[in-house]
Amino acid sequence: MAESVDAAASAPVSLVILGAGGDLTNRLLLPGLGSLLATSDRDIELIGCGRSGLDADEWRSRVETALQDAPADRRERVLARTRFESADATDPDELAAVLASCAATPVLYFALPPAVSAKVCGALETIDRPDGLRLALEKPFGTDEAGARGLNTLLHRIVPEERIFRVDHFLGTSTVLGILGVRFANRVFGPIWNRDSIERVEVVYDESLALEGRAGYYDRSGALIDMIQSHLLEVLGILAMGPIDRIDESALRDGIHEVLEHTRPWGGDPVAASRRARYTAGEIDGRTLPSYVDEDGVDPDRRTETLARLELEIDTDRWRGVPFVLRSGKALGDPRTVARVTLRPAAAVDGLQGEPRSDWIELGLHVPAVRVRLTVNGGDDPFEIDQATLSARQADGELLPYGEVLDAVLAGDPMLSVRGDTAEACWRIVDPVLAAWRADEVPLEEYAAGSAGPDGWASVS
Ligand code: NDP
Repeated sequence: MAESVDAAASAPVSLVILGAGGDLTNRLLLPGLGSLLATSDRDIELIGCGRSGLDADEWRSRVETALQDAPADRRERVLARTRFESADATDPDELAAVLASCAATPVLYFALPPAVSAKVCGALETIDRPDGLRLALEKPFGTDEAGARGLNTLLHRIVPEERIFRVDHFLGTSTVLGILGVRFANRVFGPIWNRDSIERVEVVYDESLALEGRAGYYDRSGALIDMIQSHLLEVLGILAMGPIDRIDESALRDGIHEVLEHTRPWGGDPVAASRRARYTAGEIDGRTLPSYVDEDGVDPDRRTETLARLELEIDTDRWRGVPFVLRSGKALGDPRTVARVTLRPAAAVDGLQGEPRSDWIELGLHVPAVRVRLTVNGGDDPFEIDQATLSARQADGELLPYGEVLDAVLAGDPMLSVRGDTAEACWRIVDPVLAAWRADEVPLEEYAAGSAGPDGWASVS
């Protein structure tokens, strides 16, 4: 844990949201704050900042709505200390004035378009900055490895690494953190978590949702950048990291980084290791969806994929030769959000009928649940091999991951955010794939909305 974390954990903070009128703030950050206050008490001054489109009353009403389920005393305390500042955060004088108005240590949350965030960092560099200033940045963090490195250099001129929070809300979900419990809190899986026992690993985040009005963002990003480059690589890091004896900022982030440092497209061949596809018109749950290219705001010439699959290898003694397949897409008929670890079949046992089969361990990425497929001998005929599935659900209900992310940012604990060198490593893995796709070396396949994806694409069954 960073040195300052304990002291900072309960200290008052001024949370300044730049881009207070935007979609992220309204749909995720404010509800996340509401869920955080429902479970923990924090001393927060909440300042919304934007250039236009929102006024003080509208801001207050949005905050009120988002905090409606928080305990009354906590809600009232935040409401008494919230305000909206109309300012252009790229203007050094206006930004300095907002920071100077903060009653406590400011946490600047960049809920801004990435290009605007970079300009705000440029402005921050030129002004007097309050002690202890923290910066929270959203994805995408740069557009390639060189861009991420440049952004890191700029950020490090403003504040030290431990005060930079590169938000990946997947790291703030109990489901992903639950992987750590399954891996390290029992004696069942630790000894088999290596190439001797594991045949392949799949991380699948298939959604039935389509664009939901976000074409402006998604069409410039696509499934590879939106999901695999960021969230699923972090999941891979947690699944594949070596044993740790404590869960804190350095152990967790060193473990993830070590994995991603050694990860590359399977066989070093980004063309053979990747597939991409785009949905055509179809039906999901009785809803008719138009083709992706006919959605409002989509430019067909960008050839943006809505489904991506990437096969990776991790060049370490633990994992060499084990394929790790990451897949994510939209408008799919059989949505699945799981990490599945498939085991090599056990050796055949004389006297037991039937071929040994592959067992697996499956971890839910949306609903915290574990399923284990285990070869056993059959109940009807004890001399015949059979398979049984054991299921455990760790918690009910949907989680609001931004609550956990905000909790860590406000406490000054960077454990649940992406470290700078890891953000660069993630781009290093996908940059050659993006280059191959842009050069059209990998065909853009098609699948009907509501289907399971193009024929022949492997997914967990
Ligand atoms: P929006 O376009 O909805 O909002 C951006 C906001 O930035 C607007 O409210 C705009 O308001 C404000 N803004 C723009 N320029 C300035 C400026 N110079 N000074 C102050 N405010 C400014 O974007 P999103 O909320 O969708 O996304 C924000 C970030 O979050 C992006 O990096 C995105 O990639 C990331 N993200 C978004 C998710 C989502 O679901 N929306 C999910 C995950 C990440 P105004 O013009 O009035 O100033």
